Amino acid sequence: MHYSVIPLLTGVRNPDQGIMTYQQGYGKPIWLPIYAFLVQGNGQNILIDTGLNEDEVFVPQKFTEETGLTAQPISDCLEDYGLATHDISVVINTHLHDDHCGNNELFTKATHYVQKKELEFCKNPHPLDHRYDTFFIEKIDFTTIEGTVEILPGIIGELTPGHTPGMQTMTISTASGPVILPGFCSNEKNFPKNGHVVCPGVHYDAFLAYDNAQKIGAKQGTILPLHALSIAGKTYA
Ligand SMILES: [Zn+2]
Repeated sequence: MHYSVIPLLTGVRNPDQGIMTYQQGYGKPIWLPIYAFLVQGNGQNILIDTGLNEDEVFVPQKFTEETGLTAQPISDCLEDYGLATHDISVVINTHLHDDHCGNNELFTKATHYVQKKELEFCKNPHPLDHRYDTFFIEKIDFTTIEGTVEILPGIIGELTPGHTPGMQTMTISTASGPVILPGFCSNEKNFPKNGHVVCPGVHYDAFLAYDNAQKIGAKQGTILPLHALSIAGKTYA
């Protein structure tokens, strides 16, 4: 089974590069795109992550001037592809930070998948990780998975903790090979052409995050870092 993968730009923030790369790039402000990934195939419309909450979308003029891109509420992103929220049959979350599950509740017809450990941590997070807010998932009746699971034919979730306790890396089968969505917040700088994958700047266990990042970086396929600016507007099929 082959799918296409389209990053939908649901928001943008302007943090420090150090949020992405541990001990690297501190003091450098970046544009941080926030995506939901539309995956289509097998007669299904699937979302991996749901991006920034529709009510929080604010696009600085400077972002559009500098990048030629704009972000829009997820409903508008889907409309560009002739879809409405009720057309989404499956939602899979890489993890439950607010920039990855902000719109889950819009998808009332979908089955929602997440790793069991991630859901547990979201409901009882450590105070240091302020990126969890159960407000976004209160009404969701999640189907939880554990470990490595083929959620749909050709779509595999793999528990790869480090950035968060229950984050999962997604591998999606496409006609041109596997597309990999690392479960951790990252951009191009985390995946240099040579050398080690850079540990995510946000993590609950830096060693584990580093080790799993190397495993993800060694996978065969096209890696789409979850917050890479260079993947906006592209289709991977
Ligand atoms: Zn993120």
